[in-house]
Amino acid sequence: MASVPVVIAVDVGGTTISAGAVAATGEVLIARQVATRDAPGRAEAAIEALIEELGAAASARGVEVRGIGVGVPGPVDPVTGRISEHVPHVPELAGRALAAALAARFRLPAFVDNDVNALALGEWMFGAGRGAQSLVVLAPGTGFGTGIVIDGRLLRGAHGFGGELGHAPVKFDGPPCWCGGHGCLALYASGRGIADAARARVAGDPDAALLRAAGADLAAITAPLVFRLAAEGDAVAAAVVDEACQALGAMIGVVVNGIDPEVIVITGGVAAAFLPLEKRVLRAAVDYAFAAALARTRVSIVLADKATTMRGAAALVLHELERTGTS
Ligand SMILES: [Zn+2]
Repeated sequence: MASVPVVIAVDVGGTTISAGAVAATGEVLIARQVATRDAPGRAEAAIEALIEELGAAASARGVEVRGIGVGVPGPVDPVTGRISEHVPHVPELAGRALAAALAARFRLPAFVDNDVNALALGEWMFGAGRGAQSLVVLAPGTGFGTGIVIDGRLLRGAHGFGGELGHAPVKFDGPPCWCGGHGCLALYASGRGIADAARARVAGDPDAALLRAAGADLAAITAPLVFRLAAEGDAVAAAVVDEACQALGAMIGVVVNGIDPEVIVITGGVAAAFLPLEKRVLRAAVDYAFAAALARTRVSIVLADKATTMRGAAALVLHELERTGTS
């Protein structure tokens, strides 16, 4: 490892907790991870152990650690720094003031934010939005996260809910959403929403190809299965995928007409499934967005991996050190 300063970046996911020592260039110099299920009820202890290990590895090489950044799968109050009560994948972090606890323990500046906010900062600093002043990340995964950078600043909103476009309605009289709203983007274009929509269409029809492919088990229908059957020509799966593309196009319309960013990045766990459908998503966006604005917006689908999410948490540290004048 070169002797450049690093930040320690942690991404807390429902499956794995990944941590890395990341240089200011975005290069991940050391990486470690643990399975979240191996740390039941002690996710915070697992996060601390990873930071400890990476900090020791950095100091053994004489490398300065400038701060700690953590992306968590839920909203974080921008004023109190508390993680919201809604973190279903890692419930023991609910209500925790994690940044303050980490700063006290490691005597380093520490920042915690929503994982897709961090991802947006990562794409803006190191990825598809590098050099732009404004960028919106749409991240379909199990749920649907979004992050907004405007004029070089992350949009957190007044109460930490800024950039929750996954739960903005794309159909005002649509079905109820698990968030309490109706017709949200997440219902149509997230992994959970796509699987649920397909299940609703084939429930009670034992001859449906989707149900047969899932071994007659409704619960075994997943978004990847829906995309696969749609590609193979199954009409029911294709209708669900069409709706997903149209919903994503409608949200691009909302973003272009409402925010007019330089760059829109579609990434997250379901991005790979949308990659072969990129032209259809963009054609759908034409139905909703101001043509002159859409024509000048760079829209790209970017595959996410562990390095991208760690870079996001690192970008959070660099953004916050600069914003708070402590760099
Ligand atoms: Zn919703």
